[in-house]
Amino acid sequence: MKRRILLGLFGLSYLGLALWAFPDIRQTIRLHVLSWFGAASTGGPTIAEDIFLSQFRPDPMLKTRQTILSHPFIPTVEFHGHLFTSPTSDPPEDILTRMDQTHTSVFVNLSLFTSTPHSYQKLVEKQPSKRIFHFVGFNWKRMSEGPDFAQKMASDLEQIAKMGGRGVKLWKNFGLMQKYEGKLVTLDDPRLDPVWDVCAKYHLLVAVHTADPPVFFLPVDEHNERFEELGRRPEWSFHKPGLPSFDDVMQQRDRLFTRRKDVTFVALHFGEFAHDLSRAQDLLDRHPNVYVDIAQRIDELGRQPRAAREFLIKNQNRILYGTDGLPDPEKLKIYWRFLETDDEYFDYFPAGTNRKGVWKIYGVKLPPDVLRKIYYSNAARLLRIQ
Ligand SMILES: [Zn+2]
Repeated sequence: MKRRILLGLFGLSYLGLALWAFPDIRQTIRLHVLSWFGAASTGGPTIAEDIFLSQFRPDPMLKTRQTILSHPFIPTVEFHGHLFTSPTSDPPEDILTRMDQTHTSVFVNLSLFTSTPHSYQKLVEKQPSKRIFHFVGFNWKRMSEGPDFAQKMASDLEQIAKMGGRGVKLWKNFGLMQKYEGKLVTLDDPRLDPVWDVCAKYHLLVAVHTADPPVFFLPVDEHNERFEELGRRPEWSFHKPGLPSFDDVMQQRDRLFTRRKDVTFVALHFGEFAHDLSRAQDLLDRHPNVYVDIAQRIDELGRQPRAAREFLIKNQNRILYGTDGLPDPEKLKIYWRFLETDDEYFDYFPAGTNRKGVWKIYGVKLPPDVLRKIYYSNAARLLRIQ
């Protein structure tokens, strides 16, 4: 008898455990048990226990002030613009209209990859406006032409400088993927000195995008706060064998900044330290020849608004406004709101576009003098315009 009771209890608990594995049944049992004790009501639709992260778009119940800015505090220099996304595309014909609509006085086009004097000339003919600066890439193709590649790259760049080129854009392939004879070329490779000499001689500004946020170098798993984004764009993950680490690439870059004090650099995307402002401060303190832009980093700055405000005010002469793309009113309004208001808990991306991580941002409401420098005068000084 005792044995039969025990066997029965065992069978029941086994069945209970098996049923408990089904979320719908688990939910129903929980609600019924609680309702027996008068602690819950039954009925209503079942609630999914899990949904895909990409589908999780909660509507906040928090009611906050919504400041809609139709224009920035003053007309701006877009220091991190892109006229096109592929090397074969043409600049949009209405670019000047778009600039006017978004109060962009001057636009720095950082779209060019490997550039030659000929490709630069062609682009300037297509889009000759004095309000647009086309920064060029190094002519990496020269690397396949033998050991004097750096002299050839330098001479190409010198021709571009003589044609009026004002700056260089370096992409993240430099440091992570660019190879010479099968070996990665480091950012501080001394063989490139002839090219840096041209940058120094002609006062070419060097806008350098090195690496990406450090979270892109970590495993893409449940601990990765950019999981959703990296799942969508797996090619952005640098957590792969054979690639240098985030810190390796940063150290190469910073050695270059130290070694070439005669060149002015803009470390794009806040020098990749928007997530760690003490490191960003150290970067600026150690390298007086370095500036940073805010493009694509208001998501990081805006989730630490007090520290970010302090940083932006303290380093107000070294920060540039940039938004990474064509003048897009919906996107730019968010940058203006971040810089100019103290609005709370808002999205850092326009409605209907992809997010980076599941968080919101807060405005830093910078003082007018600081806004003037970030929006316009810091970049104007570097570009030698009024
Ligand atoms: Zn960019």
